[in-house]
Amino acid sequence: MDVKDLLKLVEKPNDKDANLIHRAFEFSRKAHQNQKRKSGEPYFNHCFETALKLAEWRLDGSTIAAGLLHDVIEDAGISFEKLKKEFGEEVAFLVEGVTKLGHLKYRSRQEQQAENLRKMLLAISKDLRVILIKLADRLHNMKTLKFLAPIKQKRIALETSDIYAPLAYRLGMANLAGELEDLAFPFLYPLEYKWILEHVKDRYEERQKYLRKVEETLVNTLKEHNIFPLKIDSRAKRYSSLYKKLLRNDMNLEQVYDLIALRIVVKTVEECYAVLGIIHQLWPPLPGRIKDYIALPKPNGYRSLHTTVFCLDNKPTEFQIRTLEMHEEAENGIAAYWAYAQAKETKEYQKEKAIFADKKELAWINQLKEWQKEALGSKEFLQSLKIDFFKDRIFAITPEGEVVDLPAGATPIDFAYAIHSEIGDQCIGAKVNSKIVPLDYQLQSGDLIEILIQKSKRPSASWLEIVKTSQAKRKIKAGLRKISDKKSANQTEFKIIAVDRVGLLKDVSAVISRAHINIVKVDVPPSRNFPILKIRAAVNDKEKIEKLILKLKKVEGVKEINYKLVV
Ligand code: MN
Repeated sequence: MDVKDLLKLVEKPNDKDANLIHRAFEFSRKAHQNQKRKSGEPYFNHCFETALKLAEWRLDGSTIAAGLLHDVIEDAGISFEKLKKEFGEEVAFLVEGVTKLGHLKYRSRQEQQAENLRKMLLAISKDLRVILIKLADRLHNMKTLKFLAPIKQKRIALETSDIYAPLAYRLGMANLAGELEDLAFPFLYPLEYKWILEHVKDRYEERQKYLRKVEETLVNTLKEHNIFPLKIDSRAKRYSSLYKKLLRNDMNLEQVYDLIALRIVVKTVEECYAVLGIIHQLWPPLPGRIKDYIALPKPNGYRSLHTTVFCLDNKPTEFQIRTLEMHEEAENGIAAYWAYAQAKETKEYQKEKAIFADKKELAWINQLKEWQKEALGSKEFLQSLKIDFFKDRIFAITPEGEVVDLPAGATPIDFAYAIHSEIGDQCIGAKVNSKIVPLDYQLQSGDLIEILIQKSKRPSASWLEIVKTSQAKRKIKAGLRKISDKKSANQTEFKIIAVDRVGLLKDVSAVISRAHINIVKVDVPPSRNFPILKIRAAVNDKEKIEKLILKLKKVEGVKEINYKLVV
């Protein structure tokens, strides 16, 4: 573990970056010096591995430094202010962002909650680099998951498979997404994993040997056509995706042709198609298995040519053909884009502007935009990769890690009512990120909120001035009404809006009488569209009122019913 390993990966590190990474390295090592991971290794190893991954993705110096420091707030008690003083605003901001993401917990396996959480991750992060650090962090945590208690393993594996892997995929990082899926798979499906291991392992080795022969034949033929691939590798299909495929094919391994595929990386798009043609001259293609993802990229932006042919010994074999650029994008997605964005600053970029220009059209960025339908400053986003799609929404977190979605400007009272009316009614104060705040405090995305309650407490009319959501307003009013009801109200006035018909009033009255409730007064004020019946009845029990309303709604012609308690 050496800071040089990090710097080696940084493209042309300037003195400023090198210095920053050096200092972050030493600072983090010292901050974590007495801590150990569950595996028994020094805690700092985890920080280093996280930073190493970020450097492999060719991210900038600040991100790598923040990767080294990503756990010092949460696990070493270093304050944001201290970080800011030592490393500046940008690094401190990134570390704080990662710390906030750490407060989110995903428990129930519901698609809607998963989607909310993924959106929230983006909202809180404000800067995609925060997500990238979190993904690198999660990758290393998954690699060392076996050292945790089984119950934690399950939760983290589930979160990885439902939240982080799809997020990585949508950010165009298919390789990372697959790796995360594969790391989670044995923990989520231990029996299935065992089955795959038993049935596939030998086949994998056999296939590897076979593909080396195929590769030889192919390279020789390409040479005759003056094509020299930049790289050819054989890639075994991931266990997790193999399992999904087997489920679709009655667990029949013979049906899976891309158990191991040969991936050919060439210099230009023209060469991609040329190689495809040559492969088809060598071996006949399987009908329906040629896929041109260059002309028609996948929704996440993936580009490549795929084909399956009857290869040596007549065995169906899959080939994937792409340029280096497509390869990098397929592997690193948004991280690759970040690298381009960095390159923009350089002279090389200015020279080759034309080549980079179409990067703006990267399909997965469009996909991401599509996904983030909410207010999107698209130009801003493309320039800086800052996330500000949700500037009108706040995502706050309960102590249990649940996400609560609120409008900007919302207060702890809004939050309390969003959880439960009772919590709202009984609210006497709030802690935000462990600090007591006034009730008119404006919540920020990522705030961890604890509502302090007192059983006998009732809502206050002054809250109506503070709250932002109509839900809270409605519930405060209801709560206030309950207080005054208790004192005096003994009658209810129903306001029934209906379609006019003969016998309407008679039917409505009958329903009320059958409920053994006395009608005190009936009023039919003139109305332009629908008749409105105002009926005052001697009832003040909420349950009875609600039951009655359900019955009244069944009366033919009744459209809408409101009620209020009156004295
Ligand atoms: Mn960590």
